[in-house]
Amino acid sequence: MKRRTFLLGTASGLSVLALAACVAPAPVPPPSTSPSTLTPSLVPQPITVDRTNWSTDPFSRGSFSYAAVGATPEHRTALGQAVDARVFFAGEATAVDEPGTVQGARASGVLVASQVQGVAAPGERITIVGAGIAGITAARRLVAAGFSVVVIEARDRIGGRIDTVSSDWPFPIERGPSFVHHSSDSFLDNELTALGVTLLPFERTPEVRSRAGAVVEPSPLGAQAVAGALSWAADQQQDVSVERALIDSGEASLSKTPNAEGLSDADWLEYEIATRLKVETGATPSQQSAWYTTDIASADNDQIVVGGYSTLLTSEAAGLELLLSSVVNRVAHDDRGVSLRLGTGESLSADRVIVTVPLGVLKNATIEFSPALPFAHRGAIAALGMGVVDKVWLRFDVPFWDTAARLWTIVGEDSDFAVWINMMPLTGEPVLLGLIAAENATRLSALDDDAFLAAALAALEPFLAVPGD
Ligand SMILES: Cc1cc2nc3c(=O)[nH]c(=O)nc-3n(C[C@H](O)[C@H](O)[C@H](O)COP(=O)(O)OP(=O)(O)OC[C@H]3O[C@@H](n4cnc5c(N)ncnc54)[C@H](O)[C@@H]3O)c2cc1C
Repeated sequence: MKRRTFLLGTASGLSVLALAACVAPAPVPPPSTSPSTLTPSLVPQPITVDRTNWSTDPFSRGSFSYAAVGATPEHRTALGQAVDARVFFAGEATAVDEPGTVQGARASGVLVASQVQGVAAPGERITIVGAGIAGITAARRLVAAGFSVVVIEARDRIGGRIDTVSSDWPFPIERGPSFVHHSSDSFLDNELTALGVTLLPFERTPEVRSRAGAVVEPSPLGAQAVAGALSWAADQQQDVSVERALIDSGEASLSKTPNAEGLSDADWLEYEIATRLKVETGATPSQQSAWYTTDIASADNDQIVVGGYSTLLTSEAAGLELLLSSVVNRVAHDDRGVSLRLGTGESLSADRVIVTVPLGVLKNATIEFSPALPFAHRGAIAALGMGVVDKVWLRFDVPFWDTAARLWTIVGEDSDFAVWINMMPLTGEPVLLGLIAAENATRLSALDDDAFLAAALAALEPFLAVPGD
């Protein structure tokens, strides 16, 4: 069992925070190859495995943006401002409503297209960097408005973080987004359904198990503590981290005395952090803003896409001029237009450019801007956080579990694999999807495939069917 990273209890928590403020951030611990993770698991070997690594992906550098301590929605607005009416920005991180989602990215593409139309003369040449949902949405609208548009994409495919894999799987699996959030009032579910893509309602009621495999009645204590801490933080003079809000509000002072099931009140706060806060944001409570970490209990009307999210992109991109496998590494502009330099050394010029690369790429400064981006943009890039959530898809010959629950979680341990989604009741196929979030994702990203799979299978042991049951 891995040592817990979030220290509960007012006294210990405060002293750790005080210490943390004085020293450099701790280095990411080396990948665990301890005997426990490499010991053959009782869980059978899967027949197909797919594992993501979004934090090391050079064209993403993380999974989606989150509100870091001190970041505000105004930072997103600032990031979305055009520079000299030549260099425009879009992408999920610029979305004030629903950042970090497909809807947010899509809306940013719609907005930037209207910004460009507001200043560009008919027939101008517009270059778009990035063929994710934001870039393709903007391109489609600008082409319809009569502009000459070329989309430049670093990868050899379109879609960006929307990444569906169909071969080797009984149904298309999603390496990026799987859910349409709050779909009751979203256009996306109708649009995907119209394209023939299967979406299924996904109720987020988890089955909770102890490490020993016992099914446990979920407790609301953790969610209540987080809600109490966020409400306390809303009344403070300045933003603090969710971790500090939990500690300073007293909400983290939960009993550590185990009950008959071996679980304490504090275990339920750990559980809430691992299975909700970290998974929804890709960040630890010490990184998240208590002011702008929204009430995630609202993730109710979700639908899960099991028929290929990428269909949305292929349909939208039909007929667009696309330059794939082309990395942009410099964006320069003056009052006459823009000039882009590619990794190949080639240059392209246009009247205006829309940059839709992920926040993680902007943070990494792999694209040089000339002149340098204004202070407000640089401030926003530094202030907003890029979270990490990775996925592992496992396909088995036959199910080793006997539960029909769709969402599996473990309480009483900060498992690296916080949440498992059982695709069997949804698709009839013995396929599991594991989610790894925040510092666990960063640490596991360094494991080789064998060690990673061993860790995943060990994490699944509580869900092994008990013979004779
Ligand atoms: C694991 C995971 C799970 C998620 N789950 C959900 C979910 O369930 N529901 C939901 O709504 N959202 C989810 N999201 C978030 C969602 O995928 C994103 O918000 C959305 O797809 C972002 O779209 P975008 O167009 O802003 O960026 P991207 O899709 O990242 O597009 C940017 C494009 O820019 C390209 N690029 C980068 N650098 C360069 C360069 N130098 N030159 C040229 N091109 C470059 C990239 O290759 C990419 O194609 C998830 C994301 C991940 C990673």
